Amino acid sequence: MRSVTVVGASLAGVCAARALRDQGFDGHITMIGDEVHLPYDRPPLSKAFLLGDESTVPLDVADLDVEWRLGCAATGLSGTTVSTVSGDVSADAVVIATGAAASRLPGTAGIDGIHVLRSLDDALALRSSLASGVRLTVVGAGFIGSEVASTAIRLGASVTVVEASQTPLSRVFGGELGALIAGWHRIAGATLLTGASVAGFVTDAGRVRAVQLADGTVIESDVVVLGVGSVPNVGWLDGCGLEISGAVVTDQRGVTSNPAVLAVGDCAAVRDPATGAVARDEHWTSAATRPAIAVEALLTGSSRKFAGLPYVWSDQYDARIQFAGRHEAESVAEIVEGDPTTGPFVALYRHGNHPVAVLAVSSPRSFGKWRRQVIDTSNLVT
Ligand SMILES: Cc1cc2nc3c(=O)[nH]c(=O)nc-3n(C[C@H](O)[C@H](O)[C@H](O)COP(=O)(O)OP(=O)(O)OC[C@H]3O[C@@H](n4cnc5c(N)ncnc54)[C@H](O)[C@@H]3O)c2cc1C
Repeated sequence: MRSVTVVGASLAGVCAARALRDQGFDGHITMIGDEVHLPYDRPPLSKAFLLGDESTVPLDVADLDVEWRLGCAATGLSGTTVSTVSGDVSADAVVIATGAAASRLPGTAGIDGIHVLRSLDDALALRSSLASGVRLTVVGAGFIGSEVASTAIRLGASVTVVEASQTPLSRVFGGELGALIAGWHRIAGATLLTGASVAGFVTDAGRVRAVQLADGTVIESDVVVLGVGSVPNVGWLDGCGLEISGAVVTDQRGVTSNPAVLAVGDCAAVRDPATGAVARDEHWTSAATRPAIAVEALLTGSSRKFAGLPYVWSDQYDARIQFAGRHEAESVAEIVEGDPTTGPFVALYRHGNHPVAVLAVSSPRSFGKWRRQVIDTSNLVT
């Protein structure tokens, strides 16, 4: 194998290129990315970067030895030839790492003051509009919406968080602990409206003025952030012959239905061979660690599969949330350290007698200890 094209010049793409070099590949690597920026890290965009600290954003790509094609969108894939807006790139193998795009609500495109937060350019635009006294409405109390709300409170904005479900974060943490963490918004001085769906936006001369809820409530707003999820960037793969199910489907190594094509990061979904189900982790750690396994399969034919637990962290209101494992409806959470009503705590989720997930708030050491006890539910026989 003499050449590899990586499509998507961000975390998963960079980690794939680094894995190729670390595993001895000395051929040509072309990195195609539609953004004009060199690769950067996204987690700070809703945290330190919004507060003005840019130091943590760039990803280290100094010694990758790749040909960069930035500001160059891929438009199609045929075998291992990638079509782009500026011509075709053929190689012996392709890594698909095109991530995901922030979802928008219908009719919001082009309205000034309504933001999403996925890219550096999104963060620059949002940062320039957040200031003390600004009335910010965040739609969606998931991780990104909650982090933006928390950062905006620190900047002195007047913040309302609108969440469609009655119990925010319950899918991730379960009802009780999800409600507890979502409750931090109120403690910090934001208004949290749950079970509230957005019916539309009031605009004036193309600029947002208010958010209208289905129950008739009108929230005067200078700035709106939509934190309503993301969709994998796979439209450019239409008709390429790979299996796509919302995301690019891979085996547990990250290899697609074409053995010379890998898919990693937020654009990929992994098929569980036991159940046939496909699952996608939209977490930094998955995008950073899975590419090395996929590259090993590409270079050596190895059957080693990813063995780690899903892990996500989030920083909100001076607390560090860490969660590892898989929480399901039937899991039962028990506080094993600390007290959630007063400060740091650790909760262990059990499925029957098996510890299947751990949640820690501002308890990094304890998190490490409890995490080692958690088993992967995808290997659980009940
Ligand atoms: C604001 C924010 C905060 C986050 N905070 C956390 C956190 O605290 N903890 C955590 O675990 N995770 C967090 N995440 C998630 C984490 O950043 C992602 O899981 C990770 O960035 C995924 O990396 P990726 O390389 O797969 O995709 P991306 O980072 O989305 O990169 C994909 C790249 O491909 C490019 N691309 C798309 N289509 C094309 C095309 N057709 N041609 C060429 N290039 C294309 C995109 O523009 C992008 O540059 C956060 C994400 C965001 C947006």
